[in-house]
Amino acid sequence: MTVPYWVAGTPATGPTLLDVRDPVDGRLVATTSLATPSDVEAAITGAVGARAETAELPAFARAAALTHVSTRIAERGEELARLITAENGKPIRWARVEVARAASTFRWAAEEARRWAGDLQRLDTDPGSAGRVALVRRVPRGPVLGITPFNFPLNLVAHKVAPAIAVGAPFVLKPAPATPLSALVLGEILAETDLPAGSWSILPTTNEVAAELVADPRLPVVSFTGSAPVGWRIRDAVPRKHVVLELGGNAAAVICPDHTDLAQAATRIATFAMYSAGQSCIAVQRVFVPRAHYDEFVRILVAEVEKLSVGEDVGPLIDTAAADRVQRWVAGAVDAGAVARTGNRRDGNTFAPTVLTDVPHTAAVYREEAFGPVVTVDPFDSLDDAFAAVNDSRFGLQTGLFTRDLDIAFRAHARLEVGAVIVGDVPSYRADQMPYGGVKDSGTGREGVRSAMHDLTDDRVLVLTGV
Ligand code: NAD
Repeated sequence: MTVPYWVAGTPATGPTLLDVRDPVDGRLVATTSLATPSDVEAAITGAVGARAETAELPAFARAAALTHVSTRIAERGEELARLITAENGKPIRWARVEVARAASTFRWAAEEARRWAGDLQRLDTDPGSAGRVALVRRVPRGPVLGITPFNFPLNLVAHKVAPAIAVGAPFVLKPAPATPLSALVLGEILAETDLPAGSWSILPTTNEVAAELVADPRLPVVSFTGSAPVGWRIRDAVPRKHVVLELGGNAAAVICPDHTDLAQAATRIATFAMYSAGQSCIAVQRVFVPRAHYDEFVRILVAEVEKLSVGEDVGPLIDTAAADRVQRWVAGAVDAGAVARTGNRRDGNTFAPTVLTDVPHTAAVYREEAFGPVVTVDPFDSLDDAFAAVNDSRFGLQTGLFTRDLDIAFRAHARLEVGAVIVGDVPSYRADQMPYGGVKDSGTGREGVRSAMHDLTDDRVLVLTGV
């Protein structure tokens, strides 16, 4: 039986099958199908047709739908977690964390939907405007096209869907081809709500059809999470659309001179460099350590990384091509003088968690987004040098600073070219309600429930005269 996709709130199947396979052993998890051209068209016309009705839904109705989704994700949590593990390969404990976060994303959206209002601005600040006020409402820019990657197949879908529902915008969601199943279960849950049927569709498609959806003028907002090359090509293809890009990074962690609990930092860094096999946009990739603590830190980090077990803590890369790339990048760095202190072994799609030192900064594994279980460690002589090294990247998502020194925290906040500085922890920390996104090649626009709601809407002003 094929798993249906969702067209304007209705289940559908097409003749072109899409097999979803477990990245660990290639076993067939389930089969869905690619949306047919007529279903793609029906999804778009459904979204356009539902635009007014969706925008006019009262806050209590939006909040009720979002609360229902949050509750049902929690109720079906174990089933969803197992599905995520099967389609993505991430260890079950991380899949459970993702499910809990998705429930939280919808719960936050329900709360924000109740609070979401405009602004009253006085205009009588100049003589010509006496007796006038402006009422500013945030109105949806229009139907949203959401495109999501494979690495958080449920929660990143939640970050497209929940804010759209909260502001009253119809959406068409295209999940990643490797991991569409948890998004399709979300469709089952959405079908239980009273949202206008036309207001939502979840369509597995080829990348060619996805590009056609991007170009379609009836979907004026494109909210994309994925790799930098694809994201920036989308932005270039549709310069007149409102495009949100949540792209990749090579996140850094800095151990500041005051932080002497190297074991604590090493434990956090080992976990969040390697979890999901490093396939997180804010996985720790580059670590900077004061020279005085460098040798000791590397020794402890290697020991911590070697404690991680494949299967329970670290899963496989998503496919063979990804594992080939990581292996090639590590080999390239080693050929150029890097030292692999542990790891650098391959077993099927699994690459052993790898710690590299002495990595030339020209190596791909340092400069690009590694998106694999690989971390580089560098010594530094001054914090200025460390901050310069963090900024010496074409990416800028988040940086983690191990310090309890407020002065350092403020300096970092002022100087680091990133979307967020995480003080006291790894850069991989994310709470789903906080503004989230990057600068430079890491993207444009912000997610995090409230920020996304802002991004999906525009100011519309009503000037009242004689008040
Ligand atoms: P990807 O760019 O290959 O694919 C992302 C999505 O885009 C998929 O659904 C894919 O089918 C679709 N797509 C591909 N070509 C397209 C085209 N021409 N037009 C329209 N859609 C197209 O990324 P991936 O490998 O699935 O995911 C990994 C990337 O995602 C990494 O770079 C990672 O850093 C990034 N990511 C970013 C965030 C963030 O919030 N900043 C979060 C998670 C992942």
